[in-house]
Amino acid sequence: MKRRITKQRQLVLDALMRLYHPTAEEVYDLLRRESPSIGRATVFRNLSVLTEEGMVTRLHLGDDVARYDANANGHYHFLCRSCAKIIDLPQTQRLSLPKSEEFMIESQSVHFWGLCRTCLENPTKQ
Ligand SMILES: [Zn+2]
Ligand SMILES: [Zn+2]
Repeated sequence: MKRRITKQRQLVLDALMRLYHPTAEEVYDLLRRESPSIGRATVFRNLSVLTEEGMVTRLHLGDDVARYDANANGHYHFLCRSCAKIIDLPQTQRLSLPKSEEFMIESQSVHFWGLCRTCLENPTKQ
């Protein structure tokens, strides 16, 4: 039983790497095509487990849907406001805040919004 879970988790992780910031629904769509026996609940549960274990980051990028990122190395995100493309950016420095008793920071995420190159070169599409 344990082995089965590990295999499914690996499938979910593989799909995440190939899809580049997919939603849970997109992960499920891809896996269903390749492994029809995999259930929707299984995919969603494994995404949660991977997130809790820190192997995957859950992103909220302004729209209501959560996206998943298998690149667990700290990095920033650029979002194109026209075509919704997401681009990983190197994290140039870690932001730091003065220590506070009011809260405990567990993680940070930084997003930049603008226009990607394709949209800049095709302004009619905006
Ligand atoms: Zn764009
Ligand atoms: Zn990313």
